[in-house]
Amino acid sequence: MTEPEEVRQPFRLAAVDLGAIRHNVRAVDALVGPDTAVMAVVKANGYGHGAVEVARAAIEAGATWLGVADLDEAVALRDAGLDVPVLAWLHGQDARFDEAVIRRIDVGVSSVAQLDAVARAVETVRGAGAAVDVPAAGDGDGDGGAAGDGGADGGADGEPVARVQLKLDTGLGRNGAARSEWIALFSRAAELQQAGVLTVTGLFSHLSNTNEEEDRAQLRQLTAAVAEARAAGIEPTVIHLASTAATLRLPEARLSMVRLGIGMYGLSPFDGVTSAELGLRPALRVEGRVISVKRVPADSAVSYGYTYRTAGESTLALVGLGYADGIPRLGSNRAPVWIRGERHRVSGRIAMDQFVADVHDAPVEVGDRVVLFGDPAEGYPSADDWAESAETINYEIVTRIGPRFERRYES
Ligand SMILES: *Cc1c(COP(=O)(O)O)cnc(C)c1O
Repeated sequence: MTEPEEVRQPFRLAAVDLGAIRHNVRAVDALVGPDTAVMAVVKANGYGHGAVEVARAAIEAGATWLGVADLDEAVALRDAGLDVPVLAWLHGQDARFDEAVIRRIDVGVSSVAQLDAVARAVETVRGAGAAVDVPAAGDGDGDGGAAGDGGADGGADGEPVARVQLKLDTGLGRNGAARSEWIALFSRAAELQQAGVLTVTGLFSHLSNTNEEEDRAQLRQLTAAVAEARAAGIEPTVIHLASTAATLRLPEARLSMVRLGIGMYGLSPFDGVTSAELGLRPALRVEGRVISVKRVPADSAVSYGYTYRTAGESTLALVGLGYADGIPRLGSNRAPVWIRGERHRVSGRIAMDQFVADVHDAPVEVGDRVVLFGDPAEGYPSADDWAESAETINYEIVTRIGPRFERRYES
């Protein structure tokens, strides 16, 4: 007889608490107030949590925009039936801007060359006579007057029009148009808008989060850019700069929209500041199962390279998770795990598919849950604990959770 479905427990489980996602979005939405929209950033499969499920929860809780890195991620959201405004800001040289036009995806443009590629894509779509997705009723009205979706999608004659947001490098030194290119970018964008090829729906930049002084300097650069853009004849609907860190700590950087990533997942962007201190609830709990238990004598070696030996007679619990699942190998002999309410430590090297925890004399059995990290308010180690063990940041811990995990959603 097969076991009933609810009894079957995967030995690699990524449980996502959508209630926590909603809580975090509501908290930030309340903090920024009615004049600032919240964009839910769901790139990289929603930081490993599942992009579509997180996006739906975020929208329920008041987010009015979605943000992703590339167009494939944006198209996947559209395919899942999400029809709120979506912005994608990172494009390869062969990016399918025609798809962006057809699917009404806002394209973050970082150069005149990209702007021209978008304009060519509009010609292609028009030439093919392709139909543009129709916006859903009420789409983009946002937060009761907060940043809307930036206006027209069809030209005066009903022709497809691209939606473009100009991305400026105000000091991060990464993606975004260099200061020397701003004027050319603005005047070309104004020209194409005048010609009915595209609508400039927004203007944005990204902070380095180095310190408050540097962030303020970038904000001044963006303010100057907005003035230059207006002088060139561009009136962007949304102007945005802040990701989670500035959203929480630099109110003047919130502008018409904040791009909420890590905070929506309930994690802190600040060193030494916990989720709870920020009023956030971690949404992801990563679990394995004890898949074998053995009692061994003192001085028993564990795993590759014998980097761990038992101090006395001890119980070793085998967990079926490894670096192929995104469990960082640097956590070997350092990172915590929770079994039956007690903390133990990864013992010996983390291998591709498995690791061991020396649980000493704790009564551990095959099938016991092993929580690597979750919400510390529930007694579990945190993603921050794992980040510290692996000399990285909580962002990397959650985004690397691999495809062999079964993701389950709790509301
Ligand atoms: C990833 C990303 C964000 C979200 O950042 P968090 O620190 O996770 O809030 C916002 N804006 C851009 C451009 C990004 O790439």
